[in-house]
Amino acid sequence: MNSKILLARKRIALVAHDNMKPQLLEWAKYNKATLFKHQLFATGTTGSLLEDTLDVHITKLMSGPLGGDQQIGALIAEGKIDVLIFFWDPMSAQPHDPDIKALLRLGAVWNIPIACNRSSADFLLTSPIMNQEYEATLPDYGSYLNRKV
Ligand code: PGA
Repeated sequence: MNSKILLARKRIALVAHDNMKPQLLEWAKYNKATLFKHQLFATGTTGSLLEDTLDVHITKLMSGPLGGDQQIGALIAEGKIDVLIFFWDPMSAQPHDPDIKALLRLGAVWNIPIACNRSSADFLLTSPIMNQEYEATLPDYGSYLNRKV
């Protein structure tokens, strides 16, 4: 088993689909003090709204449907995002559905803690290991990488 160390100050990516943005903003406002202890990333529109609401700097990527979800996925694959808070909309079809799937898949591939609704986000943010160094196990992809093709 391989592993990676997540530092006490986590790199958190926040994404919300349009219908879920009010919920995410309300949640982020309520948890502002805790979120401020970490480094925040977001897709474009979510990030702008969070910056206005929280008055804090957020590293903003492109808007989700224009490539932002894929950018966050790439950061996860590079080990540059520790936690994903992703309020995706279960009641509306999204034009970038393949990107959403890809983002959730990479989160699973790299064993990233993911919260897709407010309760999970509450559980995640209040976990003691959110503010401690944590050794996350990583699957051994060696045999896959060294496979005979
Ligand atoms: P947005 O993207 O924050 O730019 O709206 C979110 C998404 O749909 O992935």
